[in-house]
Amino acid sequence: MKNQLRQFAVIGLGRFGSAAALELMRFGHSIIGIDIDAKIVNKLADQLTLAAIADATDENALKDLNISNCDATIVAIGESLEASILCVLLLKNMGMSEIWAKASSKPHHTILSRIGISRIVHPEEEMGMKVAQSLNYPMVNHY
Ligand code: ATP
Repeated sequence: MKNQLRQFAVIGLGRFGSAAALELMRFGHSIIGIDIDAKIVNKLADQLTLAAIADATDENALKDLNISNCDATIVAIGESLEASILCVLLLKNMGMSEIWAKASSKPHHTILSRIGISRIVHPEEEMGMKVAQSLNYPMVNHY
């Protein structure tokens, strides 16, 4: 069955967010990428469907970008717990149901899970497990 092409928003275009955004683009999806840092946004501008300089804790900015029309959003802000939680709450208030968020600590995970986030991602731990699994089943690496 062919994968249906969808529209996603990626908020926070650091290493994790930009890798997710570019891979989704490679699959043919439409991506709105948002970051507060103009340099990061300008670097990715040609590679995403839309790249915007915006503060993800600003409700009006998210509304102007029509984020609620997206099928799902990845919140890839890890360092600032406050910005991550505020952004997730705004997205929830806007009616977005599929939100994936990066957690950078246990308290961050606990809060995201209490808010009812669809999928909480721990990049370092998950990658560490993937590396261990690849070493355990070396044949899988040959696919
Ligand atoms: P990574 O490991 O993915 O590179 P990081 O831990 O180095 O991320 P984070 O603080 O998690 O950095 O931020 C990821 C991205 O989110 C950065 O590019 C940062 O500019 C962006 N960001 C942080 N706060 C906001 C905000 N309020 N609105 C939009 N983007 C933000």
